[in-house]
Amino acid sequence: MINVEETNIINPVCPHCGEEITKVFARLMSTAFGKRYIYFCSLCKKVIGVSQRKGFWMG
Ligand SMILES: [Zn+2]
Repeated sequence: MINVEETNIINPVCPHCGEEITKVFARLMSTAFGKRYIYFCSLCKKVIGVSQRKGFWMG
C-alpha cells in the first residue's frame, strides 16, 4: 500500500539529467492511434513520457 500525497513544494527530478524539473515541454504527435502528447525535460530535452491512449475500451 502506497500513500499518495499531493505536493507543490517539492519538484520532481529528471531521470536523465538529475535536475529538478520546474517546467516540462509537451509536443503533440499524431500516431496511428490518434493524437498523443510527448513530454520532455526543458533542460536536457530528453523524453520523460508519453500520454497514454485514453478511452480505448470505454469508447
Ligand atoms: Zn533532464
